[in-house]
Amino acid sequence: MPDVGATILAPFQPWLSFNANFSFMTRINLLSQRLANQIAAGEVVERPASVIKELLENSLDADATRLEIEIEQGGIKLLKVKDNGVGIHKQDLQLALSRHATSKITDLEDLENIQSLGFRGEALASISSVSRLEMISRAADEEAGNGWKVAVEGQDMQASVSPAAHGQGTTVEVRDLFFNTPARKKFLKTEKTEFGRIDEIVKRIALSRFDVQFSLQHNQRSIHKLLAANTDQEKQRRVGLVCGPAFVENSVFVEMEGPGLKLWGWVSLPTFSRSQADLQYFYVNGRIIRDKLVAHAVKQAYRDVLFHGRHPAYVLYLELSPAAVDVNVHPTKHEVRFRDSRLVHDFLFSSLHKALASVTPSDQFLSHADGQHKPSMGFGIEPDDSNVNYLHQQSSLSLVESAHQGYVGNPRAYRPDAAAIQQQMAAFAKLTADDVDVPPLGYAIAQLHRIYILAQNKEGLIIVDMHAAHERITYERMKTACQNEELKMQPLLVPLSIAVSQSEADCAESQQQVLLSIGIELERAAAESIIVRQVPSILRNANIEQLVRDVLSDVLEYGSSDRIQAHQDELLSTMACHGSVRANRQLTIPEMNALLRDMETTERSGQCNHGRPTWVYQSLDELDKLFLRGQ
Ligand code: ADP
Ligand code: MG
Repeated sequence: MPDVGATILAPFQPWLSFNANFSFMTRINLLSQRLANQIAAGEVVERPASVIKELLENSLDADATRLEIEIEQGGIKLLKVKDNGVGIHKQDLQLALSRHATSKITDLEDLENIQSLGFRGEALASISSVSRLEMISRAADEEAGNGWKVAVEGQDMQASVSPAAHGQGTTVEVRDLFFNTPARKKFLKTEKTEFGRIDEIVKRIALSRFDVQFSLQHNQRSIHKLLAANTDQEKQRRVGLVCGPAFVENSVFVEMEGPGLKLWGWVSLPTFSRSQADLQYFYVNGRIIRDKLVAHAVKQAYRDVLFHGRHPAYVLYLELSPAAVDVNVHPTKHEVRFRDSRLVHDFLFSSLHKALASVTPSDQFLSHADGQHKPSMGFGIEPDDSNVNYLHQQSSLSLVESAHQGYVGNPRAYRPDAAAIQQQMAAFAKLTADDVDVPPLGYAIAQLHRIYILAQNKEGLIIVDMHAAHERITYERMKTACQNEELKMQPLLVPLSIAVSQSEADCAESQQQVLLSIGIELERAAAESIIVRQVPSILRNANIEQLVRDVLSDVLEYGSSDRIQAHQDELLSTMACHGSVRANRQLTIPEMNALLRDMETTERSGQCNHGRPTWVYQSLDELDKLFLRGQ
């Protein structure tokens, strides 16, 4: 039998000896300048990329219009930024390297209305405490050639200043990062990884300032050269250079204004989704941020159109009064706090939702026509996507599943009347004539394997997945019908009592009206308990307790909840899927044309309810290329 006492005690022994040998009760010392700065550096200077971020922000704050970045060995050996900004006066050079020294704010009022990227006055002090830093600068009002160089030495970080030639502006060179803090150096990854992070920072900043020219070199090789972009076309070009041409080709430009708010930028079409959330740039007043509230609003806007588990891509700019947003909530300033977070959330959601809903086939062709976009809607999903299945999982002969017909009426079976058929046929016959208006998705010419509709418009060939297309149309109709009819509520046979936290109960009580508007009637029963009396009838079979909990946590966090809508949409989507034209059914030409016309007028008709494309397009040019015509 083992000795129980010994086995229980054994794990504690290292602790005992540790405590016995270590005492915190020594005398108090003042930390050296350098050590104090090194401790502060822990927050700001994590790796070479964080140094580049601080240096670039300083240059932009100094009104530079040209930035040259040179990196060696992933930034571990050298990080150099040269700018043509206002420069630093000789008298200020030493100060610039000390902690809590900044030219950007002077009092608390400034802190509440920050317009510069930096303001904490600790980046240069921190960086120079963990590297060999040299800064050469010439202020705008000093004579040409009369620059000054500053470097720091020793524990108390004495800065020495000497003359050095320099054009107007500042060059900062950071060598041997973490040479004196080996524990931190150990955490650096390979040269390639560290450079990748630097490149990402440069991209983020390049997208924040179209008016500034950027160049980036790694180990003497040129990586980016971005000229200043002033016109819309030049800006779009920069977005293409930074995010890749496929993003620009498969995105729409949005521009919306709300009360004191403006949103503009590029959002990917739902059919161009990514397996990771890696192409998402969001700027608030020119500062890139990663924010839960923003992410939630965007996700919600894409909810209905994105393939499950996929991520949208976007480059978006939110502009609002600096006083309406607090940037001083995190040392690296990646997070912000909006004064009116609900307003921002709702504005983002509704702007993007609207933009995505209104992408119709004719918009697609319009944007193609200006030469900006390559006409290849639907080919945007990257090849990494073995899980995206373009074919139908099921096929059955039934046109309409009768079980669901009662709900919003018979999903339309594409049997237009005789007059409509006549009309379509006449238009189809004239298709080859030059002067007729051909609708964006053209006219049907055939059906392929009873799955795809082949149609021709003025520019080329359109292939439609007929089940996917009809599914979206049915779904959108059901949603409209459902909204118009208002949310029908149904009393629960036995009211449901749910134990919640005090703050959730408070929220349930104060937001009763909001909850009622989404079909949930409840009341507070006690300090930590609520009673649910009615729910939307369409959701009566859902897990009500879970649903109400989720809704409450949404309302607590974002001021609103779209869960009911999401649940309801999910249900309608399933119903639409079953109630739509199945693959494997022969359609007549007029039936196919009717489907095409419906697609042109239906919101979000470019994707089925699961986010798969409903149609793709091949221009005559592209077809010619396939056959090597004219080459
Ligand atoms: P912060 O940016 O928060 O003010 P830093 O430590 O990054 O703090 O910089 C300290 C000061 O040095 C800045 O406030 C600015 O006055 C000056 N400075 C730093 N970099 C530059 C630059 N590239 N051009 C002009 N001034 C600079
Ligand atoms: Mg700074």
